[in-house]
Amino acid sequence: MNMVEDLVAAYRILAEHGVIDAYGHVSVRSEGDSKRYLLARSIAPELVTADDILEYDLNSNPVEPRGRESVRERFIHGEIYKARSDVNAVVHNHSPSVVPFSVTRVPMRPIFHMAAFIGKGVPNFEIRKAQKGSDLLVKTPYLGQALAKTLGKSPAALMRGHGSVTVGETLARAVGRSIYLEMSARMQLQAIAIAGPRGKIVYLDDSEIQASVPGQDYNRAWPMWRAKALASLKPR
Ligand SMILES: [Zn+2]
Repeated sequence: MNMVEDLVAAYRILAEHGVIDAYGHVSVRSEGDSKRYLLARSIAPELVTADDILEYDLNSNPVEPRGRESVRERFIHGEIYKARSDVNAVVHNHSPSVVPFSVTRVPMRPIFHMAAFIGKGVPNFEIRKAQKGSDLLVKTPYLGQALAKTLGKSPAALMRGHGSVTVGETLARAVGRSIYLEMSARMQLQAIAIAGPRGKIVYLDDSEIQASVPGQDYNRAWPMWRAKALASLKPR
């Protein structure tokens, strides 16, 4: 139950921070069975309650559909869990400040310590390389596999003209990375605007990235985010 509650909180936290709109989603690998994961049915994130959480196998088939509609892009989650045994939580979002980096040749860079993970690499998934003329949605196992391949060992990947995906060993880490990826994108845009086209921007260097990333688990923020999110839930 706690894990379901954590996941419900994660949806609401991401909505509160403007990271997911009516269409983003977040999943967590099942505690008792690493070959399954939990994800909400197709519903706006701010409305998610425990009753909306479904369990899926890694081929993204619902274990007990209960007549509920699944999100079409669930293959993002299943295929990443298959490819990454170190990942226990996945967030897919359309966070607005990140999208411009997915359509230009300007890479996201590690600009501040809370998003140092960006220095580990944020590849950009070009869906055209996998399928031409798509609606940009990752709604087949094949596209999920192609995205997981682009993600590789990275903590996040952009999705050209669509959004991004962030992963973590814990739900707190995947959620925190999504929030700080959006924040970092805004900061980088601001720094570029201030510095001008030829201005120098000082990004974190490799040694600072190595020193910052291991401790960046967002575990201090998580209980606060979670408590606020669950306080908004009325007893059912
Ligand atoms: Zn999407």
